Amino acid sequence: MGRTNELTLNQSSLIGHMVIVKCNLCHRQVHYLAADLAELLGPQRRVFSLPFRCEKCRKSDYLLISVRIPDSRDFGKIILRRPAGIKKVLLWKEERLR
Ligand SMILES: [Zn+2]
Repeated sequence: MGRTNELTLNQSSLIGHMVIVKCNLCHRQVHYLAADLAELLGPQRRVFSLPFRCEKCRKSDYLLISVRIPDSRDFGKIILRRPAGIKKVLLWKEERLR
């Protein structure tokens, strides 16, 4: 593995990391599974430069991303943010009959 800040989601998911995104402005903290993020955002994405934005205050400038392996105290306790499906939106447009 290269330098820590080059850690990819794939490497992180193989280690079994949780990715913790904390907003230092509103103090909201969200736990993800690296494996979920790898599947959704691509395995080669760098963990520490993920395109996140705080879902509460909508800002990205104050986010602090960290990773760690869950330990025995975490199980049954940590609330994960996990994919719950993709919502498809049907779009309509006006078009002249040809
Ligand atoms: Zn925030």
